Amino acid sequence: MTIKEINQGIKEKKFSVLEITKSYLEKKDNLNAFITKTDELALSQAGKEGDSILSKIPYALKDNLMVKGTKTTCASKMMKDYVAPYNATCVEKIKGIILGKTNLDEFAMGSSTETSYFSVTKNPHDNSRVPGGSSGGSAAAVAADLVPYALGSDTGGSIRLPASFCGVVGFKPTYGTVSRYGLVAFASSLDQIGPLTKTVEDAETVFNVIAGKDKKDATSFKRKEIKKNENFKIALPKEYFVPEMDNKIKKLIEKAVEGLKTEKSSLPNTEYALPAYYIISTSEASANLARFDGIRYGFQKESKDLLSSYLNTRAEGFGKEVKRRIMLGTFSLSSGYYDAYYSKAQKTRELIKEDFEKVFQKFDFIITPTSPNTAFKIGEKKDPISMYLTDIFTVSVNLAGLPAISIPVGKIDGLPVGLQIIGKRFDEENLFQLAKIIEKKCQK
Ligand code: GLN
Repeated sequence: MTIKEINQGIKEKKFSVLEITKSYLEKKDNLNAFITKTDELALSQAGKEGDSILSKIPYALKDNLMVKGTKTTCASKMMKDYVAPYNATCVEKIKGIILGKTNLDEFAMGSSTETSYFSVTKNPHDNSRVPGGSSGGSAAAVAADLVPYALGSDTGGSIRLPASFCGVVGFKPTYGTVSRYGLVAFASSLDQIGPLTKTVEDAETVFNVIAGKDKKDATSFKRKEIKKNENFKIALPKEYFVPEMDNKIKKLIEKAVEGLKTEKSSLPNTEYALPAYYIISTSEASANLARFDGIRYGFQKESKDLLSSYLNTRAEGFGKEVKRRIMLGTFSLSSGYYDAYYSKAQKTRELIKEDFEKVFQKFDFIITPTSPNTAFKIGEKKDPISMYLTDIFTVSVNLAGLPAISIPVGKIDGLPVGLQIIGKRFDEENLFQLAKIIEKKCQK
């Protein structure tokens, strides 16, 4: 059921909050979508239901979001026994019924949920395939109806990509509209929390609850009012409709926008987005992850002295992909290489932002496929570069701080395909409007 249907059902007394909560708790997770189930917490929360639009709705959170008294593992050995001492701001705002914490790529680094220390989440449409990542557990849980909705985080596509692979709606808000307080940081200038839902309307509902300025996150701010629009002009950038892409994906996207006012356009610096993203995100990650030293919290490897304790703790506590990124980021920031890599990537980021600004002078929205391919097989992408390429259509959005949504527009050989709508900063309201139009067309 959707959020809307559950609220309706409760209102009409078709079922109680406790009944609906229990029905979700009884569902079996055959996909490894969850790392931790929080049955007791859910039952106690269902007992003291609040009055807001989400307070009666069960949900799940990606396991890099803090829920007081509950394990927050980030799918890492480093944090496997860590219990969060406070709630993330979004948890405080939602006041809903928490069913559990979902699987992810370790510290949200990945596109398939395969780098999780615990297990690989399976795609509900084909269990031999990945659900996408890094919010793969959240996407799979929503797609398999283990939860009505879930929260994820998106640094370079981690909400939109799994949404597209699992056939659900995934929304990444304008940078700064949702407080990051209580989200374990990966790359602070890119990270944003957002919902994975069954419908666009539900995504909008959740977004409206979690958005807003928070004094605990200095980068958060109040949303600006934007004029309502109805006559959307849509750009289709040629760099996102490349010949290497599956032609069937292209066809589905074209069909979904049929009848809308579209025009071909260009974001010429798109080819530099991935390299810029992987330098900036790893640089920020290398600084953010320095706090995991085995002294203050998390896993600690007993060692003969302090230095070997640091070294052994980090060598054993982090997985391969996380270490690869810490090394890459440390290198890019090191004196002598800073100008050649980090500083250059920041300049490239400006070019990418300008690309979008130019297109948005003429158009209201940009539409692209969310990914050049459908869900791939578990174990298929062994080479890290080929994994990084999965994000080719999503990372620019984070570099530019824009809002973007992925909505399902059909299937190819039983596997879902996602369409991405990118909007102007703060233009969420119109973006949801357009998403609803396309969603409706695709249901016909
Ligand atoms: N897949 C991208 C990465 O590996 C994005 C991750 C994310 O958005 N958290 O960095």
